[in-house]
Amino acid sequence: MNEMRMTDLATQFAAICGTANVQRGDSIDTRYQSDWLGTKESAPAIVVRPGETAEVAAVMKLCAETRTPVIPFGGNSGLSGGTVARAEDQVVLLSLERMNKVRRIDRAGMYMVAEAGCIIQNLHQAVEAEGLMFPLVFGAKGTAQIGGALGTNAGGLNVIRHGSARALCMGLEVVTAAGEVMDLLPALKKNNTGYDLVNLMVGSEGTLGIITATSLKLVPPPLAQATAMVKVRDVDAALELMNMTQARTGGRIEAFELIGRLMYELPVTYLDHVTAPFDEAPDLAVLMEIGAATKEDAEIGADGTVALEAQLESILADAFEAELVHDAVIARSAAQRANFWALREGTLDAMQKHGNWVMNDISFQVSDLPGAIADMEAAFAAIAPGPFCVAFGHMGDGNLHINARPYDRDPSESPEEVKAIKDAVRDTVIKWRGSISAEHGIGTDKQRDMKQLKDPVAYEMMKSIKAALDPHNLLNPGKVLM
Ligand SMILES: Cc1cc2nc3c(=O)[nH]c(=O)nc-3n(C[C@H](O)[C@H](O)[C@H](O)COP(=O)(O)OP(=O)(O)OC[C@H]3O[C@@H](n4cnc5c(N)ncnc54)[C@H](O)[C@@H]3O)c2cc1C
Repeated sequence: MNEMRMTDLATQFAAICGTANVQRGDSIDTRYQSDWLGTKESAPAIVVRPGETAEVAAVMKLCAETRTPVIPFGGNSGLSGGTVARAEDQVVLLSLERMNKVRRIDRAGMYMVAEAGCIIQNLHQAVEAEGLMFPLVFGAKGTAQIGGALGTNAGGLNVIRHGSARALCMGLEVVTAAGEVMDLLPALKKNNTGYDLVNLMVGSEGTLGIITATSLKLVPPPLAQATAMVKVRDVDAALELMNMTQARTGGRIEAFELIGRLMYELPVTYLDHVTAPFDEAPDLAVLMEIGAATKEDAEIGADGTVALEAQLESILADAFEAELVHDAVIARSAAQRANFWALREGTLDAMQKHGNWVMNDISFQVSDLPGAIADMEAAFAAIAPGPFCVAFGHMGDGNLHINARPYDRDPSESPEEVKAIKDAVRDTVIKWRGSISAEHGIGTDKQRDMKQLKDPVAYEMMKSIKAALDPHNLLNPGKVLM
């Protein structure tokens, strides 16, 4: 019966989107059959790839009529199980990949309108040609789509300056669970007309609607950047250095990344294209970047250095005097800057070359970071000897990526230690009232934790919203809420 229904649906999808854009059974491409890491298998009954909003709406309408669940599918880089389909659910995977047009770049209004399937990196290139910047940058930018980035409220290396996807989203076009199109695309900076449905959709991981297009904030690119890799005394010192730099530059920090010893050593050891910035590995480093706001800051002096570099040098000299900083290397060329960033952005790759890890993506109030990190370091030291990486992440956002394992053993060989690591992270989040998901969303991985840790009134309100917008539980069922 189900089989007949799915065959019939696939035929109707083909009539809407074209036969080439519907896959079924054995014809389903392997890239739709697991998550990005290849660790979670996925078994959609049908994959459909609409090419425009009207097609998404028509597909969704059919799914609503037949009570067929739908998973919006972007670049599949979400890592929390948000795009994974269970065979028994007979799910339609709706891929936005063909909806990849930039509809408009408005220079005067400093925004663009892009379809949900646009790859983030392509958006960077599209606006760069217009002398503008779309400041959402993270490791998966060559794979992740803007619809998926909004679905998880992604944010990466320069959230400290520009905010995460939510802060960059000015408007949305969404297909609802009933297959209607909700047009909230105008890029209004002020709009106080009732509930903020754009904000509600961002971060909802495909459980409330399918994002088909968005209006995105653009900014002028920094006229120049000054970048340094800095050995800091400890986490307190890093925090002080960050606040001191914000004060001295008028809030022009573009990135401030905390890099613990292990996350420095792994890329240096495993990645051929990364060169060690220091002769001796630091216990704790910061990769910091400031941007120039004025032409004077961006001017190149007789010695070939940018004026902004002198400002960074002066800040670091004072930080050295104050014993916040032990050593620093300022990038004197584009290649040196690229090397610092290759080290930071290559961590996941290097970690995978070493083996499997217990990974967490958590956040704290920024001023709580020193205490929270100290708590986790103490807890990890009691679990097993050897290096763990606790202090690693986007310091300005209070977002830490706790990548841990007993160094010389695969986590699968030591389940008790893995459990202890997870418990230590969770206990610290509870103690400091942090968040169990700062970037990658809830998906299926963190549902239980969210249910237990979220304020119960807020959790029930989320369930009411889901029931109101998707009464038949068709949009990404079994994700986020339990
Ligand atoms: C190497 C690497 C580095 C990363 N670094 C970061 C980082 O620094 N910061 C960060 O925040 N994240 C990071 N991520 C996570 C991930 O890239 C983001 O969550 C990403 O934005 C997801 O986009 P995607 O298109 O791949 O979405 P997918 O993985 O396809 O989907 C993610 C979720 O969004 C939903 N969804 C997808 N498209 C839509 C749509 N059009 N409408 C509604 N819902 C939709 C899906 O159903 C799913 O629940 C990283 C991932 C990798 C692999």
